[in-house]
Amino acid sequence: MIDLHLHSVYSDGSDTPEAIVRSSVLAGMKAIALTDHDTAAGIDDFFLRCAGEPLTGIAGIEFSAKSDGGPLHILGLGIDASSAQISALVEETRMSRNERNLAIIDNLGAIGINIPWEEVLSYAHGGIAGRPHIAMAMQKHGFAGSVQEAFDLYLGKGSKAYVPRESPLPSKIMHAIAASGGIAVLAHPFTWHADADDLERGIKSLAADGLAAIECYHSSHAPDDTVELMRLAHRLGLLVTGGTDYHGEKIKPDVKIGRGRGNMAVPAALLEPILGRIGPKGFVCGKEAER
Ligand code: AMP
Ligand code: FE
Ligand code: FE
Ligand code: ZN
Repeated sequence: MIDLHLHSVYSDGSDTPEAIVRSSVLAGMKAIALTDHDTAAGIDDFFLRCAGEPLTGIAGIEFSAKSDGGPLHILGLGIDASSAQISALVEETRMSRNERNLAIIDNLGAIGINIPWEEVLSYAHGGIAGRPHIAMAMQKHGFAGSVQEAFDLYLGKGSKAYVPRESPLPSKIMHAIAASGGIAVLAHPFTWHADADDLERGIKSLAADGLAAIECYHSSHAPDDTVELMRLAHRLGLLVTGGTDYHGEKIKPDVKIGRGRGNMAVPAALLEPILGRIGPKGFVCGKEAER
């Protein structure tokens, strides 16, 4: 089995890359990709931990794109994390996120909730800070009983301290991914468009801008969803990928590395076509990558 969608402490996951690699080896994963939100800060650490282990590590990232529907997330797999294109996009996102984080902290301050910014940053381990880290600080200081309560009362869309965020266009994200040697994947497609016709139209337009694959296997999918997406991928000539979107068992206890909800697992047979597209110079690490 493989798992090409994993989050670490460098974004909003609760495991270090070291713990992720250890659990993946124990779970018998043939390949894994670290795909933190808007940052590649964990990739060096991840590759260090993959070295000498019997699995392929793939350098990844997950960007949020400007959307005409629900949340539109694009994964880059096999990226050169230090390329100029990825670095520029990461920096642009970091600045827009920090502006937004500070605006949220201002909004909280205005209603008597004072959260130290340095502490919020520290929860992101030098990676990218977001609302989950603000929620952690709120919980720590007793302003919310849990991270979920912090979202429900203050941070979620439509609640008291919410501030929207500008995201880059999908075409810009996909071009940066392609220019850095990676392949662009539409993550959890149904969060973007729940309607099948809207989704197909949307994917066709992404494909024209360089989309390479669809995440057909995901923890949020029922088996029927996966079949529907695989048919669509084949019809449009796109690759099939999959991952659990693991954030750590503390955060989503029903999602484990390699095992999503309802025993969802991603077949290892998907790996070769993906590695083939990333190419021999792609940013993969581990025994199987020495091909
Ligand atoms: P941000 O990237 O700062 O906008 O935060 C997005 C992250 O916050 C998502 O990846 C989720 O983990 C979490 N999140 C977003 N909305 C909610 C919500 N309503 N309840 C709990 N967590 C949420
Ligand atoms: Fe997340
Ligand atoms: Fe996502
Ligand atoms: Zn994700």
